[in-house]
Amino acid sequence: MASGCRDCRTCTMPGVMRAMLKWSVGLAHLCTCGISWVVKRGFYRHCPQCKHLDSRHQRRRDGSFMD
Ligand SMILES: [Zn+2]
Ligand SMILES: [Zn+2]
Repeated sequence: MASGCRDCRTCTMPGVMRAMLKWSVGLAHLCTCGISWVVKRGFYRHCPQCKHLDSRHQRRRDGSFMD
């Protein structure tokens, strides 16, 4: 796939695992009436490339990619 980072642990996951993760995360957002989604959006940094959590990337503190 074109979109995705090599240093993103979610992007490098096998497709089945990613689908399961997406499903469980979606369910969690549904259960909290979107509160967890708002918290995730507001308090966590996201990767501009794949929109996954920044903390799941192996990057330097200044935000630059390892490669
Ligand atoms: Zn990613
Ligand atoms: Zn990324």
